Amino acid sequence: MTTVLLVEDDPAISEPLARAFGREGYAVRVHGTGKGALEEVAGADIIVLDLGLPDMDGLDVARQVRSRGLTTPILMLTARSEATDLVVGLDAGADDYVTKPFRLAELLARVRAQVRRASGEATEDELTAGQVRVDVAAHRAFVGSRELQLTTREFELLRVLVRGAGAVVRNEDILKEVWGEDPTGTQQTLQMHVTWLRRKLGDDVDAPAILLAEGAGYRLA
Ligand code: CA
Repeated sequence: MTTVLLVEDDPAISEPLARAFGREGYAVRVHGTGKGALEEVAGADIIVLDLGLPDMDGLDVARQVRSRGLTTPILMLTARSEATDLVVGLDAGADDYVTKPFRLAELLARVRAQVRRASGEATEDELTAGQVRVDVAAHRAFVGSRELQLTTREFELLRVLVRGAGAVVRNEDILKEVWGEDPTGTQQTLQMHVTWLRRKLGDDVDAPAILLAEGAGYRLA
């Protein structure tokens, strides 16, 4: 059984969420403090982590989880949608984030994606473009033999670009496929994710050679 560790101090959020996770068939452990949560992280399959906790910063919870060598997926719940805050969160070890207020269906989809990725459940085949290889089934991506640590969105973005490698994939098509109905899927968000993805691909952000902006879209060279 998949165990979700829900770290959230606001019962108005944690109670309905815990019920929803239960309906999804997950075992749920709820903690309102970072310290309490850290005592139970080892048994969790995924951690849904609020950043604003009463005893410590959620980012420090993420850092401590990673410093213990745990690769458990971490989904941040954040009220901060600023790009820099998200970068800090992802650097702290989070795999993905949902900005409050979020839609329940979206959060559940993100949790499912992370659980699937972590368990390596099969979904599709493998895609390659030059040095870049996307193992869709295992939800893993590589440049040569180096594995990329990607968030769910970055992975989806790379998958779409590798699939269309050599051609321009139009912004609207990327947004539709990677963000779907999510209102945070804007031109600006896409640009931000492309920047992060370039960095992880080892591409020069200022003079990109791998991922080219083509005005109307992006092309993986
Ligand atoms: Ca909070």
